[in-house]
Amino acid sequence: MQNTLKASVTFDGVGLHSGKPVRMILKPASADHGICFRRTDISLGDTLVPARWDLVERTALCTRLVNTSGASVSTVEHIMAALAGCGIHNALIEIDGPEVPIMDGSSAHFVRGIMQQGIQRLGAPVTALQVMKPVTVSHEGATATLMPSNRLIIEFHIDFDEAAIGRQSRTLDMRNGTFARELCDCRTFCRRADVETMQANGLALGGVPGENAIVFDGPVVESGQGLRHSDEPVRHKMLDALGDLALAGGPIFGHYIGDRAGHSLTNTLLRAAFATPGALRKVSCDPIMTARLPGQGLVWAEIPTETRRVA
Ligand SMILES: [Zn+2]
Repeated sequence: MQNTLKASVTFDGVGLHSGKPVRMILKPASADHGICFRRTDISLGDTLVPARWDLVERTALCTRLVNTSGASVSTVEHIMAALAGCGIHNALIEIDGPEVPIMDGSSAHFVRGIMQQGIQRLGAPVTALQVMKPVTVSHEGATATLMPSNRLIIEFHIDFDEAAIGRQSRTLDMRNGTFARELCDCRTFCRRADVETMQANGLALGGVPGENAIVFDGPVVESGQGLRHSDEPVRHKMLDALGDLALAGGPIFGHYIGDRAGHSLTNTLLRAAFATPGALRKVSCDPIMTARLPGQGLVWAEIPTETRRVA
């Protein structure tokens, strides 16, 4: 069955790139509503921005949705990952600015907020997307692939010159609350040189190393209380991938493989999958299929907190 939230939940924070304060309120929504943002600071034109792959403006640094009236919401990937990872299929997300609050750079605040309110079952089956044949896209040495699978598997490989990151690989089956347990507290990261370039271009103005992003500077790692997992960077890339795949319009049964991929390439992959005849098939989930969806089997005690690391 489809799910929504039992009650609204509010998040106050700043935009990572704008540095501006923002309030975001997740509200329950009915079956088949899907996930949709609404800009409450705009009064003219269409203020609804559906969380859909075909509204993504492909940029390197974050995932930005733009509707046909030009209303946009940036950095949607961490809240989308939290919703997908908790098995929330329907929600209205009111936001009073152009960028989702970065919180601590991970999805943990969102997951805890959603799970504190609880999950409301709705009276309609989940429509999922089954990957029927492999689709691969590549760009400048990075690749992203979707392979057929009867569950969602996320596999990721990264390779950075910084010795503190280096090569990292991980593969996880997203059933049974895996996202909340293994990935949701993994924070966004970048290199010191990238911070300087971004800030010179008016970006990452809300970034505070160690507080809402991990910054790697040669052998120095600015990570607050230390890394939350020894391979936190690749786990964050998996979190991003789940959030970007959640823009497909429903849960995916497939094996995603990202090799140095990013937001833009994962969106290119979704576009290629939807454009390839027979690559994706809509399926109405029976109870056995529903049991394999992310968010099923998620329990409160397994959600990491500031003082309790689980994985
Ligand atoms: Zn991210």
